[in-house]
Amino acid sequence: MTVTEVIKGGISLIRGMKVTIKTFFGPTVTCQYPRQTLPISQRFRGHIKLVRETCRACGLCQRSCPTGCITVYGEKPEGQKHKVLKRFLLDFTRCSHCGLCVEVCPQNAIAFSLDYNLASFRKEDFVFDLLSEYRSRGR
Ligand code: SF4
Ligand code: SF4
Repeated sequence: MTVTEVIKGGISLIRGMKVTIKTFFGPTVTCQYPRQTLPISQRFRGHIKLVRETCRACGLCQRSCPTGCITVYGEKPEGQKHKVLKRFLLDFTRCSHCGLCVEVCPQNAIAFSLDYNLASFRKEDFVFDLLSEYRSRGR
């Protein structure tokens, strides 16, 4: 190893340490997840969720979904004009977050959730019953 190489290595080391020391004494940019969480942008795309009772079970979202991850089932009560939603399933393992289902809904009944805290070893845990989830939220 030549003297020039040693000098170059030393300069490189000092430069690297300058960055490390500057960052060490600078403001903290990390958070202690899961004890701390950061505010989530309103434009974040989590799994879709039902947000209104206005869903008519028309099936537009189901037909628009390119990956076929939505299953909607409704029944038309005797003498009523519109269907009543009975079941709304989402297979989140296949969702690409494209947003087509949200865009086509004529009733604005679905939206993206801000839920990013999803983890499981079982695929079945990512099949969501959105109607039950909506009712359990109480809104
Ligand atoms: S966001 Fe796209 S892929 Fe996901 S459920 Fe809606 S239409 Fe399907
Ligand atoms: S969520 Fe919207 S598009 Fe999907 S079935 Fe209900 S009303 Fe139709």
